[in-house]
Amino acid sequence: MARRKKIYEGKAKILYEGPEPGTIVQYFKDDATAFNAEKKDVIDGKGVLNNRLSEFFMNGLAQIGVPTHFIRRLNMREQLVRSCEIVPLEVIVRNYAAGSMSKRLGIAEGTQLPRPIVEYCYKDDALGDPLVTEEHIAAFGWASQQDMEDILSLALRVNDFLSGVMLAVGIRLVDFKIEIGRVYDGDFQRLIIADEISPDSCRLWDIETGQKLDKDVFRRDLGSLTDAYSEVARRLGVLPQSNVSKPTLIN
Ligand code: C5P
Repeated sequence: MARRKKIYEGKAKILYEGPEPGTIVQYFKDDATAFNAEKKDVIDGKGVLNNRLSEFFMNGLAQIGVPTHFIRRLNMREQLVRSCEIVPLEVIVRNYAAGSMSKRLGIAEGTQLPRPIVEYCYKDDALGDPLVTEEHIAAFGWASQQDMEDILSLALRVNDFLSGVMLAVGIRLVDFKIEIGRVYDGDFQRLIIADEISPDSCRLWDIETGQKLDKDVFRRDLGSLTDAYSEVARRLGVLPQSNVSKPTLIN
């Protein structure tokens, strides 16, 4: 049997060449990292949960007409995605102050923001993904003016969708990060949502108790990460309604 070609290995995922041209197999690892990989651990079952949750969110976005790279889930840990050129930006949308924004601006975590605030970070691990302005993005050619308009519109649509889905299951969407890919259709270029959407890249707080159900559980040593992610999956109907601490797949 031929070994498949690894294209890239990141902190939480591995990308392999897909079965057809223009496709990629995205494998979700159990590795958890925080603070630019200064803190590391292997969390049994995290990859399985994120594979399922990202599938759930990407499918939901497709249903409301937001284009994504997701094609289909292949198995417990892998999904087939469309190959794209990643725009070198992390696009962060915040509804409530938390994390680096609270630190930077001295705003208490949990403070509701007057409106969703979109921030851009330059994707560069060696630099710790620094916050940049649209001036940097335009001057260094990371994205065009038209791209930035499209990215803003995509980010706000994802925010509306995710906020609503979460609110319906008693979870507050505090903030999240997405990545954007470019695909080419003949002479035209389109932007799509790429990478993953999961509790690794969102802040999710229980509306009643404020309990954290996202990667801050790992970053801040607040308990079991798989319990938190399983709770999100269970509420969204991605896992059975029983109180499971280890992921049990429905299909
Ligand atoms: O750390 P910070 O407050 O800037 O993070 C904002 C949001 O973006 C959080 O939901 C966090 O999980 C996500 N994020 C991410 N990957 C990064 C940086 C932030 O998923 N490299």
